[in-house]
Amino acid sequence: MDLDAVVIGAGHNGLVAANKLAERGWSVAVLEAEDAPGGAVKSGEITEPGFTSDLFSSFYPLAAASPAIRELGLERHGLRWRRSPLAVAHPQPDGACAAIASEVDETAALLDRFAPGDGDAWRELYGYWERAGGPFVDALLRPFPPLRSGARLAAALGPRGLLGFGRFAVTPVRRLAEERFRGDGGAWLLAGNALHADLTPDSAGSGLFGWVLCGLGQQYGFPVPEGGAGRLTAALVERLRAHGGQLECGRRIERVLVERGRAVGVRTDDGEEISTARAVLAGAGAPSLFRDLVGEQHLPATFVDDLRHFQYDNSTIKVDWSLDAPIPWIAEEARRAGTIHVADGVDALTRTTAQLSRGLIPDQPFLVMGQYSMVDPTRQPPGRETAWAYTHVPQQVKGDAGGELTGSWDERETARFVARIEAEIERRAPGFGASIRARHVFTPQGLEAANSNLIGGAINSGTAQIHQQVVFRPVPGLGRTETPIRGLFLSGSSAHPGGGVHGAAGANAARAAVAADMRRTLARRLPIAAR
Ligand SMILES: Cc1cc2nc3c(=O)[nH]c(=O)nc-3n(C[C@H](O)[C@H](O)[C@H](O)COP(=O)(O)OP(=O)(O)OC[C@H]3O[C@@H](n4cnc5c(N)ncnc54)[C@H](O)[C@@H]3O)c2cc1C
Repeated sequence: MDLDAVVIGAGHNGLVAANKLAERGWSVAVLEAEDAPGGAVKSGEITEPGFTSDLFSSFYPLAAASPAIRELGLERHGLRWRRSPLAVAHPQPDGACAAIASEVDETAALLDRFAPGDGDAWRELYGYWERAGGPFVDALLRPFPPLRSGARLAAALGPRGLLGFGRFAVTPVRRLAEERFRGDGGAWLLAGNALHADLTPDSAGSGLFGWVLCGLGQQYGFPVPEGGAGRLTAALVERLRAHGGQLECGRRIERVLVERGRAVGVRTDDGEEISTARAVLAGAGAPSLFRDLVGEQHLPATFVDDLRHFQYDNSTIKVDWSLDAPIPWIAEEARRAGTIHVADGVDALTRTTAQLSRGLIPDQPFLVMGQYSMVDPTRQPPGRETAWAYTHVPQQVKGDAGGELTGSWDERETARFVARIEAEIERRAPGFGASIRARHVFTPQGLEAANSNLIGGAINSGTAQIHQQVVFRPVPGLGRTETPIRGLFLSGSSAHPGGGVHGAAGANAARAAVAADMRRTLARRLPIAAR
């Protein structure tokens, strides 16, 4: 096989990259190690027939906002988005609940129940989102430095406003909530959303993360593909094939072929060598790509040294359930929300994340949950429910705050920890446990076995903390998809802007590959050096 480009890995980023190249007329093949495409965007009947679960990711506000995905027009390839009446809810055992509704006024009214005036505080925060959120998300998802969207942000805020935004961007979410809200509800929304990444309520940048997800939730909802996450992947694959691109599954790449500092192809684990005339794009995680597939001998010593400091995010345990009935939340709002956050409050989140930082399995896990009956009736038989929850555990377990587990995640330990997860839901929805028909559990090892990018159960291909973002991702100085090897581009979520289903890393890698190829063609015609 002789191609313009090979893309390693059919995660959504790889498929976005391949789509972008194929539409420019490049001959491109995506080679995927697993038997099916999608990476962490897959669905299937893993609990029992008739119940469709999302195996990994599930809610896609980032995809809804992302130019990389929107530009593909996936709706023309079978994708249909569905939105729940409330995007996300944060219910408590006493029936208190904060939630983001589809209308700002409804969200505000829900927050006014916590403290009069908090509704206006939400309106103000969302007004800020309307001014700054669009250019900021655009800047985040474009290649670094984002000159055009950065200029739009500056124009929207002005010089003084830009300085204020700088402070806003590094403010911890606990402090942000204290500055803006008097009651607990606003803090629950901001902090619950911030903790979709491995941040703590007290870490710099967590406020910005919470604000972005809250803004997206208010603007777009937390949409899901009708029929399951796999429909998003199916649409990407169909579009790729319509543009002449190829996809081959069950083909693990074991080597990127490098000649004189340039990537010239790949070798699969069955020994086939595939040469590429223009580029190799790699969705494999940065440490695996550079150490195992490229080889340290081809890389600058400082780069290899920096790579030693690459930090994965926390590990994860995910439970999927098929249920006899929708979850009987005490808080009525939670029955109308597709996404649920389960945590007692900001102090509880600080306590849980401190346990994680100390290497302890949390005694009271914080849950990100999903439920589908009110948003997508195709996912379960009438009257039933498909639901899931994930929570984080340490990558290296040093102990258990609950005093019973070791982190072996054998059958007994996993069952004990799942009981902790279910107890947190039961406190807020008595009767939940009795409605469980079947469950499927992904341990950290199970997640990695299902997708070799989910190292130790890390869901974001590397920490989202500030020391490994933007120009520090995956190593200081890169911040872009180009690598020290000419013709090799990092197209997965260990590149800026990191985890989440937004396709930006894939789109940025494709853009960089095309630009480098144009420079090379030009250099062949003109006597100048080019990468
Ligand atoms: C449990 C879980 C829940 C999540 N929830 C959400 C959510 O609700 N919303 C959201 O936006 N994000 C969520 N995320 C994060 C999001 O799913 C990921 O950040 C995103 O899917 C990563 O996409 P990717 O294409 O970069 O990598 P991946 O999806 O990991 O795909 C990489 C692909 O490359 C393949 N591969 C790796 N090495 C090789 C090789 N050597 N040869 C060939 N193939 C190879 C892998 O098999 C895999 O298919 C979640 C993730 C997990 C795990």
